[in-house]
Amino acid sequence: MAGAIVAEAGAREPVSLRITGAAMMGAPGGDPTGMADIGVRLALRTSSPQGDRMVKRVERVLVIVAHPDDAESWAGGTIAKLVRDGAQVAYCIVTNGDKGSGDRSMTPERLATTRQAEQRDAARVLGVATVEFLGFPDCEVENTRQTRLAVTAAIRRHRPDLLLTQDPNRTKLLGASHRDHRVVGEIALDCVNPLARTHLAFPELLDQGLEPHTVKRVVRPRSPRTSGPCAARCSAWTIWRSESV
Ligand SMILES: [Zn+2]
Repeated sequence: MAGAIVAEAGAREPVSLRITGAAMMGAPGGDPTGMADIGVRLALRTSSPQGDRMVKRVERVLVIVAHPDDAESWAGGTIAKLVRDGAQVAYCIVTNGDKGSGDRSMTPERLATTRQAEQRDAARVLGVATVEFLGFPDCEVENTRQTRLAVTAAIRRHRPDLLLTQDPNRTKLLGASHRDHRVVGEIALDCVNPLARTHLAFPELLDQGLEPHTVKRVVRPRSPRTSGPCAARCSAWTIWRSESV
C-alpha cells in the first residue's frame, strides 16, 4: 500500500503516522490510479490550526537518496509542492549512479556524468535549490563511518526541518527496496539520530564549522507510487533518458 511514515526525531517515543493513502486509492471520490501525492496529503493537514503550524515550520528540506532520479521517482510531487509552498529544498545523492544502464557500450564514467547532468536538470524543473553528489560507488554503498560522516556533514550543512529519505526495509517491491535504497535510508536515519545532533559525534565536523543540528521530521515514502501525479513532477521526469537502477 502506498503510504509514508512521518517520524518526529527527538521524541521519547518516535511519533509515527502512517499516511495510508486509503482515501485516495480506489475509495469513493479518491484517485482511482492510486497515484496519491504525499504533498497533497500534507497540505490536507493545514485544515487544523495545528496543521497550519506544522506546515509553516518547514522552511528547509533535505532529500537524501541513493541514486540520481530517485528523488523524482519517489517524491517529485511532494518536492514540487514543498518548493511551491516556499521551502528551500536540497538534494544529497549518495552514490555516483554509474551502474544503472543496460547499454553494453556505456562506460561507468560516461553514465555517471550523464546522470549527474540529468539530475541537475530535473532538480531545476522542480525548483530544487541545491544538488550535492557524495560519489559513493553505485550498488556498493555501505553503512560505514565514512558514509555516515558524509551524510551527517550534509545534514549539518543544510540544517533541514524536514528530511526525506528512503525506506531501510526490504519490501515486496524489489526495485523500490534496492539494496542501495535500503542502506541509504538506514544511513540517513542513523545520522538524524544521534550523529547530526550530537556535538561529540564526528568532532572533525565542528572544525569545519558544521554545528550539531536536530532534524524535526523525517518522511520515508514507501513506494514510487506515493510520488503522485503532479505536472512539475511529470516535467521533471521527462528529463531522464539514462536507465536507472
Ligand atoms: Zn535508485
